[in-house]
Amino acid sequence: MIELSAAISMIEQATAPLPPRRMRLCDAYGRVLAVGVVSDVDSPPWDRAMMDGFAVRSEDFQTATASETVELCVIVDVAAGDVTSLSIASGTCARIMTGATIPPGADAVVPIECAVDETQNRHAGTAVRLRDTHFRNGQHIARQGAAFRRSQEVVAPGTRLWSAAIGVAAEAGATHVFASPCVRVAILSTGSELVAPGDLPAFGQTRNSNGPMIAAAVSLLGAEPISLGIAPDRPEAIRSLVAQGLAADVLVLSGGVSAGDLDLVPDIFTQCGVKKIFHKVRLKPGKPVWFGMLAREHAPPTLVFGLPGNPASSLVCFELFVRPTIKILAGHPRNQWHLPGDCARLTAPAQSAMDRPVFLPCGLARDRGVLWASPLPWTGSSDLLGLAVANGFLALPAGGKRYAAGEDVAVVLRDGSDGLNA
Ligand code: AMP
Ligand code: MG
Repeated sequence: MIELSAAISMIEQATAPLPPRRMRLCDAYGRVLAVGVVSDVDSPPWDRAMMDGFAVRSEDFQTATASETVELCVIVDVAAGDVTSLSIASGTCARIMTGATIPPGADAVVPIECAVDETQNRHAGTAVRLRDTHFRNGQHIARQGAAFRRSQEVVAPGTRLWSAAIGVAAEAGATHVFASPCVRVAILSTGSELVAPGDLPAFGQTRNSNGPMIAAAVSLLGAEPISLGIAPDRPEAIRSLVAQGLAADVLVLSGGVSAGDLDLVPDIFTQCGVKKIFHKVRLKPGKPVWFGMLAREHAPPTLVFGLPGNPASSLVCFELFVRPTIKILAGHPRNQWHLPGDCARLTAPAQSAMDRPVFLPCGLARDRGVLWASPLPWTGSSDLLGLAVANGFLALPAGGKRYAAGEDVAVVLRDGSDGLNA
């Protein structure tokens, strides 16, 4: 049995980011960019009107006082997408719409609201009377290249491609990018007692809750779950599904890894060529967890987890071990997956275990700058209900200590606890 910190170090050592792949920009959402995106255009690509109004020469306003209006002949209408070669000479202007190119000669846009009421709707061939007390050159114009320039790198390698990064890459002309691939995670539930969630369990049977739960946890991380279903506790049945699962980047199997007569999984992993890295971690729940890797000739190794079958144990082990693995494979930097050393103040007492660090479901809430942790009722490692309403775990070190309400303890934030860090 090894310590939790040693287990996490071993995972870090065994795991490396998957080689980046070329993919369509529209498929790259959430991935980590490997090669920077360089723009082939300026942004804006030309001087652009930012208001509906009139494109003018600022010099025409220099002598007017705040109370005066300036009358200009409208010589052309320019809407977004229009181009004009007509030049704005002194005493003239263009009727212009947001997003249109600024015609030659004009150097400012006076918003439509600044036209004297009855002239607001003037178009080419008529005159408009404008008042503008806060006039300046360049007003309501986004200048060519003000945001970025052609040949500039607009999305740097290592950037997580969220919506705005996808948007700027599209503006820069990228239809495809090199980014971390989607991590493929095979999921296998073992146990002769297991039935599908759609079946009513007979006496002695148990619904397979781990399969859907782990698939959901995988999807929430932006990885692709591949559900292999249920294998009964027969070596040949488990072996053939494990062999399928080993084609993925990660295989997450649950059940059959502890010390019972039918805990066949560790031997089957070994027979399939998976090298054991650790088995059993000083941890509650989740002690029997198994981790290893299968070297492959023309592909990165497959990382293999055997999680204990009890659903709560499976989920704790997923959060502690599988989540970092998927994050590393997907190219995320360490600070985005390493368990944060968050501290929270207990709202009620909590009890640690004597021999092992214990992870207990809790509700976390931030109130006036303090993160509060409320221990939740929980009957043990087969009880998913307590976990389902939790958004974090108390992480209490071994020692058999009773923590009082008001004491600060370490916590781990879970999926659905977004925003608590704010
Ligand atoms: P095992 O780790 O195979 O010894 O299983 C420990 C406990 O977890 C047993 O009560 C199993 O019935 C239960 N269990 C195993 N796999 C699952 C699963 N996929 N869904 C729900 N419970 C499970
Ligand atoms: Mg079992």
